Amino acid sequence: MTTWDSLYAKRASRMRASEIRELLKLLDKPDIISFAGGIPDAALFPAEAFREAYADILSGEEAGKALQYGVSEGSLRLRRWIVSHMKDMGIDCGLENILVTSGSQQGLDYIGKLFLSPGDTALVQWPTYLGALQAFNAYEPRFDRLDPGTNRPTADYEAAAHEAGGKVKFAYLSPDFANPTGLTLTLEERRRLLALSGDLGCAVIEDSPYESLRYDGEPLPPLLALDCETSGGIEETRTLYCGSFSKSLSPGLRLGWICASSKVISRLVLIKQASDLNTPVLNQEAMARVAEACFKQHTTGTNAVYKGRRDAMLAALGKHMPAGTSWTRPEGGMFIWVELPETIDAAALLPRSVETAGVAFVPGGAFFPDGGGTNTLRLSFSCADFEKIEEGISRLGRLITETVASSL
Ligand code: PMP
Repeated sequence: MTTWDSLYAKRASRMRASEIRELLKLLDKPDIISFAGGIPDAALFPAEAFREAYADILSGEEAGKALQYGVSEGSLRLRRWIVSHMKDMGIDCGLENILVTSGSQQGLDYIGKLFLSPGDTALVQWPTYLGALQAFNAYEPRFDRLDPGTNRPTADYEAAAHEAGGKVKFAYLSPDFANPTGLTLTLEERRRLLALSGDLGCAVIEDSPYESLRYDGEPLPPLLALDCETSGGIEETRTLYCGSFSKSLSPGLRLGWICASSKVISRLVLIKQASDLNTPVLNQEAMARVAEACFKQHTTGTNAVYKGRRDAMLAALGKHMPAGTSWTRPEGGMFIWVELPETIDAAALLPRSVETAGVAFVPGGAFFPDGGGTNTLRLSFSCADFEKIEEGISRLGRLITETVASSL
């Protein structure tokens, strides 16, 4: 029998099944109220608009082009829409600044491939998006803690990176309604982070798939917009913005993009050519038509639904969670982050929650590169109706109240 383990590259040992995907297998049971998956509600997809778009493309003169290989940078029509979307957010860019990717996840993988050598440092928030850790992990970096709220000295990051035999290559973060915390960076934190990256001479990876899902408050400028402002234009920036259509229009079409200086985009294009040549053209053509026709109108409608669900979950948490438990109040996105009393292990609580309360969530430990955060959990409100939210949080609150009482 082949001894596969001896044949795999060293980096393969760092590739592990996502704890979250393993946990989601528990959810096959009927009648589970799930706050676990961080996905958009399929009932809200603009299915009719996509049906018309695909029919229009495939029945017209464009059919051959849409079924053919395409340019690696992405379809012209979709990149034009993305350029105007980025301009709406204060980023003056052109077609040469955009690479269309198969979801922003592919963008994260390409960024890891372009920047990270084994031993290099990626600065990430604690907790951070698990999929980013998975994407970067294949390139054998070490992770160091990025905390935009504090002024950790630059020399401290540099010394730690040097000791590990590498360099700080980038700071990765989601400034708007982060996965898993739901939190948004203030303007001051955004500026401080750009200043830190300037001092460190590293890149900034701004992962913003939830950007259009804002339910209250005023939008803050993306880091890339602030970077353009201070550095004198996109070609001088150090920020790579990763966008996505997954949370706004559809994740199934697998479409995202990277917006950055054309120097970086042209390097990423080479990676894409070696990886999959181009993102599916038919999907890009359909997405361009749907985005042109109804992006703003559609997201306004879905945001009203998600806002109602967020409010319902916040109200239910206030009603049912015991003292000593706290949670975030996100202005958008899909997630609420809960901190339990320190004695409670959320990963140990999950099987009991599924078995006895019929409620699922994601234990927060998976989002910490150092395995911390055992007393935290992530709740998603995007797919549950009001009744399920009230019932599920009331059952979860009862279980947590009992667990806290028995741990005293
Ligand atoms: N970044 C973050 C912060 C996410 O939450 C997700 C999806 N869960 C992604 C990137 C990947 O999204 P997609 O590849 O569907 O664009």
